[in-house]
Amino acid sequence: MIKAKKALQTILKHALPLGTEKIAIEDTLGRVLAENIYSDIAIPPFDRSAMDGFAINSKDQSKFFEIIEDIPAGKVPNKKIKLGQCARIMTGAMLPEGADRVIMVEHTKQATKNKMQVTKKSQKSNVSKKGEDIKVGQLILKKGTKIRPQEAAMLATVGQTKVKILRQPRVAVISTGSELVEPKQKPKAGQIRNSNASMLLLQLKRQGINGQYLGIARDNFVATRKLIQKGLKQADILLLSGGVSVGDYDFVKEVLGSCGVKIHFNKVAIKPGKPTVFGSKGKKLVFGLPGNPVSVLVIFELFVVSALDKIVGRQTKSQFRKMKLLKDFSRRDIKREQYYPVKIKLEKPATERRGFLVVPLEFHGSAHMQALTEADGIMQINEGVKNLKRGTMVNVRPI
Ligand code: AMP
Ligand code: MG
Repeated sequence: MIKAKKALQTILKHALPLGTEKIAIEDTLGRVLAENIYSDIAIPPFDRSAMDGFAINSKDQSKFFEIIEDIPAGKVPNKKIKLGQCARIMTGAMLPEGADRVIMVEHTKQATKNKMQVTKKSQKSNVSKKGEDIKVGQLILKKGTKIRPQEAAMLATVGQTKVKILRQPRVAVISTGSELVEPKQKPKAGQIRNSNASMLLLQLKRQGINGQYLGIARDNFVATRKLIQKGLKQADILLLSGGVSVGDYDFVKEVLGSCGVKIHFNKVAIKPGKPTVFGSKGKKLVFGLPGNPVSVLVIFELFVVSALDKIVGRQTKSQFRKMKLLKDFSRRDIKREQYYPVKIKLEKPATERRGFLVVPLEFHGSAHMQALTEADGIMQINEGVKNLKRGTMVNVRPI
C-alpha cells in the first residue's frame, strides 16, 4: 500500500502531453495555449477618442470653437484642426490631425449652428494614444496560458482565429458490476442503478471533457476484457469503476494485466479509495476506481483531475483552502489519510477578513452518496490523526 502523496507523484510521472491541435477561438475556453501569441498591430491602432465630444488642440485656450467636421467611429478624418477649430468626434473614432484633446460633450454647449462653447475647463486628454496598450510585435499571451473569455478577446483583437492548443485526452468510462442496471431501469432484486457513470461524465465535463461512456461490464473476465480493450483502443484515459477489490468477482486488475497495462499501484493509504488501481500502457492511463460512489468522486477529484491538468498543460493550483473546524471531530481508523464531507459556512460577524467555517456532516461511509449532495467540500485528515478539536484549521477542498 502506498501513501496518497506517492500515488499522486506516480500518476503525474505518467501523465504526459498528447501533442497539439489547432482550434477556433470559440472552442478555447479553459484550454491551454501551446504557442506564444504576438500582436500584428498596435493597440489602439491609431490615436482615438475615449469620449463623445469635440477634438481640439490642447494648446488652444479659446472658449468658442468652429466645428469643421463630424467624425463618427470608423471614419478617417479629412480636415486638419487649426486654432479656434474643433471636430465633433465619437468614442472610438480616429483623432484628426492637429488635435490631441477631446472635450467631453458634457463640458460643452452648442453656441450657434457651427460653434461649440466650452462650459467647463478640464486638462484631461480623453485620448487613447496609438500603441499605448500594445506595440506591434509585442508578446501578448504566453505559451501555457489558460484561456478565459478575456484571453479570447485578445486573440480576436490580434486576428488569431485559430490557435495551437495542447490536445485534450479522449476519456472512456466503463462501469463494472453484475448488479448494475442503467438509471432508466427499475432495479430487480439484488440490483442497483449505475450512478458512477453519470457522476464521472459530469466530473469530466466540469474539466471541459466530453467523456465516452462504454457501458457496463458484467463481472466476468471475458465481458470485462471486451470493454477494456475497446476503451484502450479509442481513448487516452480509461476510467473504470468497481471490480478492483479482492473479491472473487473482481476482474479488473487481471484483465488490465492481460491487455498489456502495467499496474503501478493497486492500493493507496487513503479513505475512501483504498483499492484504487492505476496503470499505464504507453501514454495511455488507466484508473481503476473503487465501486463505491463516494470513493469514485473523491479519487477523481484528487487524482484524475491532477492527471488531466498535467496532460493539457494546466497549472495545478492546490484546490485546498484552510478553514476553521466548528465542531470537534474524531475517528477510529487512523491508519489512512482521510477525506470527509463537510458543510462550509461563512464566519460571522462580518469582519473584513471573514474566514470559512466547516461542519462535518453525518456520513455513513463510502456508499453514502446522499451525504455528498449536502456537502460543500471534503476535509482532509492526515494519517495518524485521531481527534481534531473545534477551532483547528483544516484543509478543505470545495466540491
Ligand atoms: P466493487 O468495488 O465492485 O466491489 O463495488 C463496491 C460497491 O460499489 C458495491 O456495493 C457496488 O454495488 C457499488 N457499485 C459498483 N459500481 C457502481 C456503480 N457504477 N454505481 C453505483 N454503485 C456501484
Ligand atoms: Mg463489483
